[in-house]
Amino acid sequence: MSEAELVLRSTRVITPEGTRAASIAVTGGTITAVLPYDAPVPPGARLEDVGDHVVLPGLVDTHVHVNDPGRTEWEGFWTATRAAAAGGITTLVDMPLNSIPPTTTVDHLRVKRKVAADKAHIDVGFWGGALPGNVGDLRPLHEAGVFGFKAFLSPSGVEEFPHLDQDQLARSLAEIASFDGLLIVHAEDPHHLAAAPQQGGPAYRDFLASRPRDAEDTAIASLIAQAKRFNARVHVLHLSSSDALPLIAEARAEGVRLTVETCPHYLTLTAEEVPDGASEFKCCPPIREAANQDLLWAALADGTIDCVVTDHSPSTADLKTDDFATAWGGISGLQLSLSAVWTAARARGHSLEDVVQWMSARTAALVGLGQKGAIAAGRDADFAVLAPDETFTVDPAALHHRNRVTAYAGRTLTGVVKSTWLRGQRIVADGEFSEAKGQLLSRVA
Ligand SMILES: [Zn+2]
Repeated sequence: MSEAELVLRSTRVITPEGTRAASIAVTGGTITAVLPYDAPVPPGARLEDVGDHVVLPGLVDTHVHVNDPGRTEWEGFWTATRAAAAGGITTLVDMPLNSIPPTTTVDHLRVKRKVAADKAHIDVGFWGGALPGNVGDLRPLHEAGVFGFKAFLSPSGVEEFPHLDQDQLARSLAEIASFDGLLIVHAEDPHHLAAAPQQGGPAYRDFLASRPRDAEDTAIASLIAQAKRFNARVHVLHLSSSDALPLIAEARAEGVRLTVETCPHYLTLTAEEVPDGASEFKCCPPIREAANQDLLWAALADGTIDCVVTDHSPSTADLKTDDFATAWGGISGLQLSLSAVWTAARARGHSLEDVVQWMSARTAALVGLGQKGAIAAGRDADFAVLAPDETFTVDPAALHHRNRVTAYAGRTLTGVVKSTWLRGQRIVADGEFSEAKGQLLSRVA
């Protein structure tokens, strides 16, 4: 072994080649080698032996609403990145809404970066936003380092981030394709939503009926058509409707440049178990039935769905009223996502390697972060150390999110994050955080 500052040793290290006993050598924040377990520790290097706890690459969560600045009473970079670190996440990419300003011009991106710079406990990147009026801002934002552009096809929930109609989508996508950028889309069709029964009130079944699967299916079909037209790269955000899976599989087989994500809540919670009035379970598109969930898992297993991201989208507790029609739509998941997904994944016969693929390797690949997403020489020394068989019961008081509203309260989850490491520094261990050392990331040209 050549020089190393740190050697992290475990009987179970998840590498791209599988899980093995290994010693990870780290210098200057970078993994220099993944060595045999009993490799000699070089003089001067610090040995950290985590025993039988699993070392996995730090998770990369590409779908987080930090809301800072502007709606910092909902969340903020300080609280979001601490909660993420506590959950084994070492990189997040911030959505262009619900902060004020939204990340839709280079000036707004500058404001966001300034606010995030000294609050980030983990690495932070930014998505831009595609609005009806900002086609001219897309290329400058791309050149300024955003990882791609988010658009809505139906109302977003905040007035400063209007959705695109099909003509506007075409104009934005033509521009984004001209520099081979990535468009990420909230795909629900506004006409199908408008035609659905809008009952309101506390009954979850009424809320579910107001956001039908065919709204998603239709929007995804239109997105696929537009992606084909411009040979553009598009990504479906937070897929909930399993009915859309066949058309996604067909488009991918045809070579459409399409990727798809889903979220922990669609994989672990079901419509049947949501209590009436419990709007901590409200998100759009909604949590659907157990049979739908089974098909989402099958699509993860066969690769039709690429990755799993939180869509962490909190608000203050007072906006989570018992009327599903007017309550804020968004589920807080940053701190619990790894444990929630692992709990359900292992019950379905999946391995932790699978979870690493969905929540780290493929999300890093989605945004082109070649230095993240794997434990291998040359990558950033970002790790989550997990006790995969240990269980805990979710206590909202133990969450580091600004607002401790959670759909997972009282659930028993398997998999406890013991520590999280960013570029070779332990940033949290057993609930104790070190100072904020996250960096701001830009798209790698
Ligand atoms: Zn979102």
